[in-house]
Amino acid sequence: MSQLAPRVIAWYRRAGRHRLPWQQDPSPYRVWVSEIMLQQTQVTTVIPYFERFMKRFPTVSDLAAAPIDEVLHLWSGLGYYARARNLHKAAVQIETEHGGVFPEDIEAVMALPGIGRSTAGAILALARGQRHPILDGNVKRVLARYHTIDGWPGRTAVARTLWAKAEAHLPETDIKAYTQGMMDLGATLCTRSRPACGQCPLETDCQARASGTPERWPGKKPKKAKPRRRSRMLMTVAEGQVLLERRPPSGIWGGLWAFPEMNEEVEAGEWCQAQLQRTPQATEAWAPLRHVFTHFELDIHPVRADLPRLPQAVTDGDHQAWFDLNQPIKVGLAAPVSKLLEKLRQQL
Ligand code: SF4
Repeated sequence: MSQLAPRVIAWYRRAGRHRLPWQQDPSPYRVWVSEIMLQQTQVTTVIPYFERFMKRFPTVSDLAAAPIDEVLHLWSGLGYYARARNLHKAAVQIETEHGGVFPEDIEAVMALPGIGRSTAGAILALARGQRHPILDGNVKRVLARYHTIDGWPGRTAVARTLWAKAEAHLPETDIKAYTQGMMDLGATLCTRSRPACGQCPLETDCQARASGTPERWPGKKPKKAKPRRRSRMLMTVAEGQVLLERRPPSGIWGGLWAFPEMNEEVEAGEWCQAQLQRTPQATEAWAPLRHVFTHFELDIHPVRADLPRLPQAVTDGDHQAWFDLNQPIKVGLAAPVSKLLEKLRQQL
């Protein structure tokens, strides 16, 4: 029997987090949404997003019935938008394939878009007390340090060793307290830098602690220079309105609204003439801004074009639409687009 679990459970009861909003009425739906929001995002950032999301979509069915634009709008600012698109897609799947009831079988949960083994395990452990191991970023760090497991956890062999440890430590009872305790331990004591080993219930036999340099684990991802891409964005302004387009569902900023992109060879005037049958009275190239994605960096070269009047050509409203710059824009917007819109507003 693992000597780790009883200590983590006792520590959790004494010092863990018990008042997080998703811990109140921890239904699989609420735990699921919280787990997805918490991926790559701090608890303090997530709380207001979670509360707004639950107010608007109190049930899986409410989420499934909502337009994706509204879901993305409530997600605006949290980043990693594929999470929101998958959440919506999974809600629709739960509605159609499971009658609107969140599945309770781990295989069925893992078959939903955007839910991997660790998230599925966390949902069923925290909401239903089912006995499944989890291996999120926090737990990986605790286990890699406790056992001094070398190598980057993104490598299959290292992940396999960590999963084996996660399974081996799983207690027979008190799964909820243990699961939340492991997450809390990683988030509050066994932090990435300067872990508080002196307060940790695992201090006596943690191998990383004994080594004197616990921060050496887990191993870092081998560094690769990020490729850089370029994008020219056209900010067409006419009568206080701005033209935005919805991005295709896959790819960067999938489903969000952004400025139309222009080919490198095309002049802003030509573009306006070809697309909107209008010649701008003025165009102005703005200083480029850089947006960093996980896998590459994007240098955005914005060009402002002012049209004398709003073009007659009708936009379909679904893929392309004019938005009033003086009103809050209630669709999901890519972060650099929000920045540029703010700058445009200041120039009105
Ligand atoms: S003793 Fe230190 S390194 Fe080991 S698990 Fe606890 S906080 Fe992490």
